Amino acid sequence: MRCPFCAHDDSQVKDSRPTDDGAAIRRRRQCEGCGARFTTFERIQLREMTVVKSDGRREVFDRSKLERSISVACRKRPGG
Ligand SMILES: [Zn+2]
Repeated sequence: MRCPFCAHDDSQVKDSRPTDDGAAIRRRRQCEGCGARFTTFERIQLREMTVVKSDGRREVFDRSKLERSISVACRKRPGG
């Protein structure tokens, strides 16, 4: 895992334990370059979220696409 402070490529896992609900693993890491400590969470991802289009095609969910269509929809509102 790359260090968020100095961008060094490797960090050491110091501690690793499940979160309270058991749905994720919390890891305490320490950068091998600058020694900074940070935490990562490991979660299960069952599959990519897909969007079913009106013609039945499936596309991988794209958050930026959704944001774009929302902002277009808002622009078309009267008085906006
Ligand atoms: Zn670092």
